[in-house]
Amino acid sequence: MTLAATSALIADAVRSEGAVLAFNVITLEHAEGIAEGLEAAGVPGILQVSENAVRFHGGRMAPLVAACREVAASAGVPVSVHLDHVQDAELARSVVAEAERLGISSLMVDAAHLPYEDNIATTAALAATGHRTSLWIEAELGEIGGKDGAHAAGVRTDPDEAASFVERTGVDGLAVAVGSSHAMTTATARLDLDLIARLAERLPVPLVLHGSSGVPMPALRAAVAAGIRKINIGTALNVGYTARVRAHLADDEAVTDPRKYLTPARDAIRDAVRDLSAAVASG
Ligand SMILES: [Zn+2]
Repeated sequence: MTLAATSALIADAVRSEGAVLAFNVITLEHAEGIAEGLEAAGVPGILQVSENAVRFHGGRMAPLVAACREVAASAGVPVSVHLDHVQDAELARSVVAEAERLGISSLMVDAAHLPYEDNIATTAALAATGHRTSLWIEAELGEIGGKDGAHAAGVRTDPDEAASFVERTGVDGLAVAVGSSHAMTTATARLDLDLIARLAERLPVPLVLHGSSGVPMPALRAAVAAGIRKINIGTALNVGYTARVRAHLADDEAVTDPRKYLTPARDAIRDAVRDLSAAVASG
């Protein structure tokens, strides 16, 4: 398989009224486990690296993203590479500048923390430059709870405001606040399915769901039926990954070779990606 473009994967999801799953990559083992899980499910997917993950790697984007590009390009199913929750203007500029070299085909501009008019100006400017290098641009309106623990869980995206935002910024996809919250370790979020349907009806671009680890599977499938076309998943992978590491270390106090505990941890990511992908695809 060659490296896929996010725009093509999303276009397929729109045509089939399904959704593409996008999984957060923190280390190389995440990327490998995600690709294996997608292959096992036989579905396409997205490897996404967040600004926080870039910061974890010393602020250097290229090493991990280039690794994602190579993992995606050698996967047996179509896989693309996305940069997620980019707030830093300098990083956003380097994503646009390095997109072709690093195999990045989409970028989420996260300016939702700014005052509304500043969010529009920042997002529109990045969408315009990103489109020159064929990047698919996602933005967010109505902050999705949980990031930095600062936002109320009751935030909702207003359909009229969202329609105006999309028109004024020229973005290709919109992350909406419909009841999910970042970093939930239990699937107990309640989605506003009626609002998703109204947003899908009102907006000319595909909808993205963030904080999906906190959403029970039947609700995730219902969200796709209501119009969600990209589903971001991070925490659900790390719950299994870290549990395997913890179990191995508790079991074997003498271990020093990281391969001993990272192999089962990577397998946990593969299994979670396989099961989530298969469950959403069968919806
Ligand atoms: Zn998010």
